[in-house]
Amino acid sequence: MSRMTTPRQLFVHELQDVYYAEKTLTRVLPTLASQATDRELTRAFESHARETQKQVTNLEKVFKSIGERAEGQPCPGIDGIKREHDEFMREHDATPVVADVFLTGSAARAEHYEIAAYTSLIEKARALGERDSVKLLQANLRQEKDALKKVETISKRILKSTNGSSPRSRSSSSSRGRSTSARSTARRSTAKRSSSTRTRSRS
Ligand code: ZN
Ligand code: FE
Ligand code: FE
Repeated sequence: MSRMTTPRQLFVHELQDVYYAEKTLTRVLPTLASQATDRELTRAFESHARETQKQVTNLEKVFKSIGERAEGQPCPGIDGIKREHDEFMREHDATPVVADVFLTGSAARAEHYEIAAYTSLIEKARALGERDSVKLLQANLRQEKDALKKVETISKRILKSTNGSSPRSRSSSSSRGRSTSARSTARRSTAKRSSSTRTRSRS
């Protein structure tokens, strides 16, 4: 382990971190697109996948402009967000609507992570006087913010459309039985769907 002594080294490290994250997301976003059922959501993931390719290129330009080799550094943050998604999809046989809402949340988690990463990278680039880097990083940040807004809007729309068809009992006497009711409904649909393709039945 070498001693890190300058903000510039930290900047390069964090750049490598986000470079790894973006490259990971170029593989993850097409998966999300294929898992989504809602058409607008699928398209949002497809278009953000294309933007992400461009973001990778922008980061390569940043590396070049500061005279560093474009290189990734494993980023446990994005790996964790990905793993949370993978485990949910493996362990819960969610209905299409529930899965879509879940996917918007997974995407939002990734976007928030990226927004935080770019915001602090931009601050450092500015402090270091790296103006070209600032511009390139800002372009990526803008796309992340737009992507976040888009999935938030889609999530709201999907949730609104399910209003009233909630499996939960709404009677005033059932505050005690609510979670039980939601859980048993989930179990029922798991049982129904697992008969065909699944071998395991965890929930
Ligand atoms: Zn790191
Ligand atoms: Fe990104
Ligand atoms: Fe993103």
